[in-house]
Order: sequence, then C-alpha cells, then structure tokens
Amino acid sequence: MNKELLRKLPKVDELLQDKVVISSLDNNMRVVVIESLRETIDFYRKAILEGKIEDFSREDILYSFNKILEKKNRPNLNKVVNAAGIVIHTNLGRSVLCDEALENVIKVAKNYNNLEYDLSKGKRGSRYSHIEDIIKKITGAEAAVVVNNNAAAVMLVLNTLCEDKEAIVSRGQLVEIGGSFRVPEVMRFSRAKLVEVGTTNRTHLYDYEDNINEDTGVLLKVHTSNFKIMGFTEEVSLEELVELGEKYDKPVVEDIGSGVLVDLSKYGFIYEPTVQESIKKGIDVVTFSGDKMLGGPQAGIIVGKKKYIDRIKKNQLTRALRIDKMTLAALEGTLRCYLDEKEALKRIPTLNMMLLSEEELKKKAQRLKRKLKDAPKHFNFKVDKDFSMVGGGSMPTERMDSYVLKVKSDKLHAATIEERLRNNSMPIVARVYNGEIIIDVRALLEEDFDIIAEAFKNMGEV
Ligand SMILES: *Cc1c(COP(=O)(O)O)cnc(C)c1O
Repeated sequence: MNKELLRKLPKVDELLQDKVVISSLDNNMRVVVIESLRETIDFYRKAILEGKIEDFSREDILYSFNKILEKKNRPNLNKVVNAAGIVIHTNLGRSVLCDEALENVIKVAKNYNNLEYDLSKGKRGSRYSHIEDIIKKITGAEAAVVVNNNAAAVMLVLNTLCEDKEAIVSRGQLVEIGGSFRVPEVMRFSRAKLVEVGTTNRTHLYDYEDNINEDTGVLLKVHTSNFKIMGFTEEVSLEELVELGEKYDKPVVEDIGSGVLVDLSKYGFIYEPTVQESIKKGIDVVTFSGDKMLGGPQAGIIVGKKKYIDRIKKNQLTRALRIDKMTLAALEGTLRCYLDEKEALKRIPTLNMMLLSEEELKKKAQRLKRKLKDAPKHFNFKVDKDFSMVGGGSMPTERMDSYVLKVKSDKLHAATIEERLRNNSMPIVARVYNGEIIIDVRALLEEDFDIIAEAFKNMGEV
C-alpha cells in the first residue's frame, strides 16, 4: 500500500477551488459536481489500495472527474445506435417516430392543448375524438378507440365482451409474445373463461361450433405473429369464423398483433394480415399495436363495429388504460402519413427501413466504410451481404437481404469490440458472429454514421 500516494489525494473542498471545477459549476448542479468529485477521489483511493496505480497527476484527477460528471448528466433512458439490423427492436424502443409525429408531440407537450376540450362547442370533449375519424378512414372500421398497448387492448375487449363468459380460441393460437403477453394469462385478468379447441396444428370449424353455447362470449382469433407452424396444419379462415359468429350471434374478435396498414406483399414480403382486410371480411373487433409495423408510438388500437366499440368506451378499465396526450399527438402524426400510401412508405422510418433496396443498403454500407477511414489501422472493415430481421415479433420467418460492415481487429477480440461499442458514450448495439462484429446498416440513421466513426477512432488497442 502506498501511503504517500494516499496522502497526495486531494480533498473535495480543495478541488472545488480548481478552475476546471469552478467552471463546471456554470452548467451543472453543485450537488452533482460534489458527488462526481467524491466518486473520482474514491475511485483513485481504491485503485491505490489495490496497487493498481503507481502515480497520478492533477490532470488525471480532473480528466476522471469530467468523465464521471458527463456520465451523470446523461439521462438513463437515452439514444442508442441500432446496428443490429432489427427494425422493430423491442429492447431498443421498437419504432422510430416520423417527423410529423415528433413535431406534434413537441407542440402538444410544450403548450396547453384541446386534449379534452371541444373547441366548437366550448365544452368538455373526448381525448379519443382527435384520432377516431382518421383511424376509421384508414381502416374502414365503423368506430375506434385507443389504449396503452395491444396487451391492454386485448384485455379490455375481452373484459367488455366476455366477462364471466367463454372465449373460444384455437389451441394453435395460445401465443406468448415477448415473455409477458400470454393469451391464457391475459384472458384470466380480463375474467373471460378460456375454452381451447382443436389441436396445436389443426383446428376445424366444427371445433368452434361444437363448443358454442349460451355461455359463449366471443370467438377469438389470435395472430401467431412470432412463430409459424409448418407441415400438416389447418386453420379456420376469417370468413368462416365471421359466418359462424353471425349464425350464433356471437362477436368475433381478432388480435392481429402488429398493425399493418399497407399490404407489404406488394413489395416482396410474405403476406402479413392487414387491418383493412379483417374489417372488410366482417370481423367485429380487431386490436393491434401502434409501435410495431405501423411505425408509431406505443399504443393499442381497437377498431370495429360501433355497437361493440361504444361498450368498450364505457368500460371503467378504459380510464385506467388510457393513453396520454404525447402518444395521441404522435399517433395522429403517424396516421396522417397513411392517407397516402406512398408517403407512408417514405416518411415512416419503420416502413422505410424495411423497404430499403439492396442497392440503397449497399451504398449505405460503402458510405459507412468511407467514414471509418480514420480508424486505427488494426481494424479491418469489409462490406458484405447478410440478412436482417423485421423484429418486434413480426414476420419471424422473413429474412431481409441486407448489407453489413464486418469488422475484425488484429489486436482486439470481437467480444471486446462489441462491449466497447455498447459502452460508448452514445451506445452502439451490434452483433458478433463468427469472431467478427457485424454492423447492419439497415436501421442506421443519418447521424449514426459519425457516431460509429468516432467510436472506432477513439477505441484503444488494449
Ligand atoms: C405484439 C403482440 C401483442 C402485444 O402487443 P403490445 O403492443 O406489445 O402490448 C399481443 N398480441 C399479438 C398477437 C402480438 O403480436
């Protein structure tokens, strides 16, 4: 143990007299500065006690102090660079909002607004009125209401239409999404009684029909968003289910998962059921997410026949699951883009990223490589073909051809590089495959290129 070195450690009060520290007080709270000084001194004391340092200078201390202070000022929830190529990355916040949505959010959050005020009547209004018309217009539904997320939407619909009654579901559709949305559990919370029919791979119309009785509340169809059953399978079509519902006067409810409003099969994707299609086929109530393929904020959108939506709006649960003004503002901004499909594909980042052509992706990868020309020489960057995923439990079997930058180093292990990128002041999330770092350019935003270039430029060799 180096006693002399310990004695050399400055005190907080003394550091508070330092020019560097004094100037940091101009734009930092005093308590945060003092806490950072303490942590800096503690850090050095520990390093000395463990024999990890032989000496230190005043500059070293101030450098560490600035690093710690900078880190403290960073919000915990902050931007990261999505170099994973997964467009709807649930861990990274799902969809990036379009400009129209962002502008709306800022305007509404910075000012008072007509959230629940009917300006034409000068009376109290409904927060849902702002978006109901546009949702009706885009989806073709008679009515709509929006809640916190799709999990809430499913629970609310079941609770309204099926409390203490039976919900008939195919065994092949008892899905789990992202570990926390599980159909049987959601059902239990909503107080609907689950009646499973058919088998995992095959369910027939008679399986539903044989189980309909006076206790039946709804016929439920759940989109198996995040997995595919292959081989000897059979599902009852929407048309058949709707017909059956009409015959017995039972509402048919569909949890369609990701809300796709544009038929992406036109652009080479596998067919993902659109909300419009379900409404057209006569489904009574359809629920979907706002932040999956729709490309908007977290929300659960419920559309369908007015008589059912009216009952849902009156349910007390709706109040507990309601969305706030910022979500409404973002959702309205996003939905407006859908008034013209071409505009939606251009402006909504989620759709835009999914539809990037191979040529565009290749150019993006080449541009990133050029940006990295000042990186240390031990790195090797190679543009290569790979594939990326949609994510968010959507289109699980769809591999989108993509271009990536493969990174290797003579000095650093791929795992070390991955860790450094992840701990960068602006974190970069990339994947490691076969001893290489894979930077998929599909979900990179304009400003990410410089961030990645800086991170590599400043990455040490040990
Ligand atoms: C994603 C998904 C959910 C959950 O939606 P959230 O908006 O994340 O709450 C429910 N059902 C299906 C079929 C899904 O794909």
